[in-house]
Amino acid sequence: MAWPFESHHDELRTSVRAFVDGELAPHADEWEAEGYFPDSVFRRMGELGFLGLSYPEEYGGGGGDYLCNVVLAEELSRCNSGGVAMAIAVQTDMAVPPVHKFGSEEQKKKYLTAAISGEKIFCLGISEPDAGSDVAGIKTTAKKIEGGWVVNGAKLWITNGKRADCMTLVAKTDRDAGHQGISLFIVDTDTPGYHVRRTLDKLGMHASDTAEISFTDMFLPDDALLGNEGEGFYNISWELQGERLIGAAGTIVGARRTLDAAIAYAKERKTFGKPISKHQAVRHALAEMATEIQAAQQLVYLAAWKVNRGEYPVREISMAKLLTGEVSWKVSDRSLQIFGGYGYSMEFPVQRAWRDSRLIRIGGGTDEVMREVIGRMEGL
Ligand SMILES: Cc1cc2nc3c(=O)[nH]c(=O)nc-3n(C[C@H](O)[C@H](O)[C@H](O)COP(=O)(O)OP(=O)(O)OC[C@H]3O[C@@H](n4cnc5c(N)ncnc54)[C@H](O)[C@@H]3O)c2cc1C
Repeated sequence: MAWPFESHHDELRTSVRAFVDGELAPHADEWEAEGYFPDSVFRRMGELGFLGLSYPEEYGGGGGDYLCNVVLAEELSRCNSGGVAMAIAVQTDMAVPPVHKFGSEEQKKKYLTAAISGEKIFCLGISEPDAGSDVAGIKTTAKKIEGGWVVNGAKLWITNGKRADCMTLVAKTDRDAGHQGISLFIVDTDTPGYHVRRTLDKLGMHASDTAEISFTDMFLPDDALLGNEGEGFYNISWELQGERLIGAAGTIVGARRTLDAAIAYAKERKTFGKPISKHQAVRHALAEMATEIQAAQQLVYLAAWKVNRGEYPVREISMAKLLTGEVSWKVSDRSLQIFGGYGYSMEFPVQRAWRDSRLIRIGGGTDEVMREVIGRMEGL
C-alpha cells in the first residue's frame, strides 16, 4: 500500500503531467498577476477527459477509480499556481461529486455530463458571512412554495464564484429541524435573484476567483433539489471528506516541490566558504522537512487507498488534512527562510507557495475542526 498506484495510474500521470507542464505551468505567472485564468482551461480539460476521470462512462466519464483523482490532484500541483489547481479541484472533487452521488437521472444527464465535458463550470456554496465551520449555522433559506422553492441569503468565499454556470447550494429548508433542516440544490447561476456581489482580494491563490454571492427571492423549481429534502447536512458532510482528501493530496506533493527547490538552492548558495546545505542547521532542517512530507504523504495514501476500497475513512482523512496542512505550511516557511532575502522577493516562486499553502489550514475545514473530528473519533 505504500505506493497505491498501478500501471494505468502511471500512464494517466504521464498524460496529465504533459498537459500541466505544457498548457498550464507556462501561463501561471500571467494568470496569477491577472487574478484569473481562462474558462477555456475547463473545456480543454474536459476534452482531454480529465474532469471526469472516475465518473461512469455513460455520462462521459473515464470510468476510473478514486486514485485517478488523486493522480490528477498531485499532478496539478506542478502548475505553479495553487489557485488554478484549487479551482479545478472544486469542479472535479467538490461541487460535482454530490451531483453524481445524490442526483436524479435527469440531473445527472443534464449537469454531470456538462460538468465532465467542461461545458458547465461549478462552484460550491456552503460558507456564509456568518457561518463556515458551523455548517448547521447557515442562514440561507429555501422556503417551499407551490412548484418549487424561494431562496434568500448569501454565500461567501465561493471559489469559481464569478465564472460558475452552476452552484451546488446548501440551504436551510426547515429552520427548526437542526441538522435535518438542511438540503442541497443545483442552481443555474443565470436564475433571476442570483447575484455575484463582489470578488474578494486574498493573501494567495490569486489565479482563483473567490466571490460573495447573494440570493434575493430566487425561485428554484422542485427538480432543483439535489438528494432528499432534509439530508443536505449529511450529504455535504460526505462531500467534505472528498474535498479534504483531494486538498491534502495536492498540497503534500506541492510541499515536496517546494522542498526540492529549497534543496537545489541550498546546494548552490554559498556562505562562509561552503554551500549552505553543508551547514548542519540547514541540512537538518531540510532532512526534517523531507521526513515529515514522507510521513504525511503516506497518511494521504492510506486514506485514499481506503476510499478506493469503498470505505469511508473520516478519521484518516481528517488526520491527513490536518497533517498535510501543518507540514506544508512549515515546509513553505522554512524553505522561504533558506532562500534568505530572495525568499522574500516576488521574483522567486517560494513566496507564492508560502501564501498559497496557508489556505489548506483553513479551507474545507480548519485545523481546529479537524482536531475536533479526530478527537471525537478517539472517543473524546
Ligand atoms: C480562498 C478560499 C476559498 C474558499 N472556497 C470556498 C468554496 O468554494 N465554497 C465554500 O463554501 N467555502 C469556501 N471557503 C470557506 C472555507 O471553507 C471557510 O473559510 C472555512 O470552513 C472556515 O470557516 P470561517 O472562515 O467561517 O471561519 P469560522 O468558522 O468563523 O472560524 C474562525 C476560527 O474559529 C475556529 N473555530 C471555529 N469553531 C471552532 C471549534 N469548535 N473549536 C475550535 N476552534 C473553532 C476556526 O478553526 C477558526 O480558526 C473558502 C475560503 C477561502 C479563504
